[in-house]
Amino acid sequence: MLKNVINAAMLFSFLNLFGQIQNFGLVLHGGAGYMALRNNPEKVNVYLAALNAALDSGYSMLQRGESAEQVVIHVVMMLENNTLFNAGRGAVLTEEGIAELDASIMTGYDQKAGAVSGLRHVKNPILAAQAVKDKTQHVMLSGAGAEKFIFSIGLDSVPNSYFITDDMRARWEEALKNQKYGTVGCVALDKDGNLAAGTSTGGMLMKKFGRIGDAPIIGAGTYAKNGLIAVSCTGHGEYFIRTSAAYQVAARMRFGRQKASKAIRSTLEEIKNLGGSGGMIAIDDKGNLYHDYNTEGMFRAGRNSKGNRFAKIYE
Ligand code: ASP
Repeated sequence: MLKNVINAAMLFSFLNLFGQIQNFGLVLHGGAGYMALRNNPEKVNVYLAALNAALDSGYSMLQRGESAEQVVIHVVMMLENNTLFNAGRGAVLTEEGIAELDASIMTGYDQKAGAVSGLRHVKNPILAAQAVKDKTQHVMLSGAGAEKFIFSIGLDSVPNSYFITDDMRARWEEALKNQKYGTVGCVALDKDGNLAAGTSTGGMLMKKFGRIGDAPIIGAGTYAKNGLIAVSCTGHGEYFIRTSAAYQVAARMRFGRQKASKAIRSTLEEIKNLGGSGGMIAIDDKGNLYHDYNTEGMFRAGRNSKGNRFAKIYE
């Protein structure tokens, strides 16, 4: 019996070595930055529980053979609906005290992408981004025009007050200088070898009228290409736009032949040298999981079919 198990394990590693087995997996994030949680183990556990719940739910979908895109949408929606994170309900507020939400999604097998920015009444911005990808000829829709389209196809509409939690209202009233970090994102590789990436955010606390960050910009906050990598970013969006951060990782790998971990680290270093901070998650076409940041911490979790699993905030 034991011998059979050992033989099966050896066969699996052998096939895996020669790329005969399609691995799968996902990584998700809930933002990066300065997080005053170190001395608060109870709060740390609340965040870890939320990350683990989203991770388990996404992983079991991949096990059942669901697509990377479905998994990314599902995981990002779970995090958007959770007030702990800066996306959907619980998002940070603009200077005027309203929630304005951005999101994007990209699928690696066809390099199709959809993005929305400045939404005020769409319950799940990631669904809106997917609708732009699948139901229009465009990549990004913004503001009132985006909402007109989104409601015409029947997505859930909510008053802006739905997004505004008491905690966020209090923080806005105090006009805290400390950013609330907590943008959410997910990258996944499915059993068919398809990659997908999605990101959703309320942006930066006290952002100015109409400000758009990196999250809805394909190539800055989100990027996916089959055979290569899927990336989702979080942090000071202006720097991720200026460095084409998510695409830069793919380009370093594709044209510079860099390993994914090096490509991510070098891109984050460039961002840091410009004065920016943040982090990234990624998954490659073999199901290897990546998570790196140049901030104090990053909410993140990942799991793959090779047996790797993590959920953490700090190192
Ligand atoms: N990247 C987001 C933005 O600039 C914010 C964040 O990730 O915390 O809008």
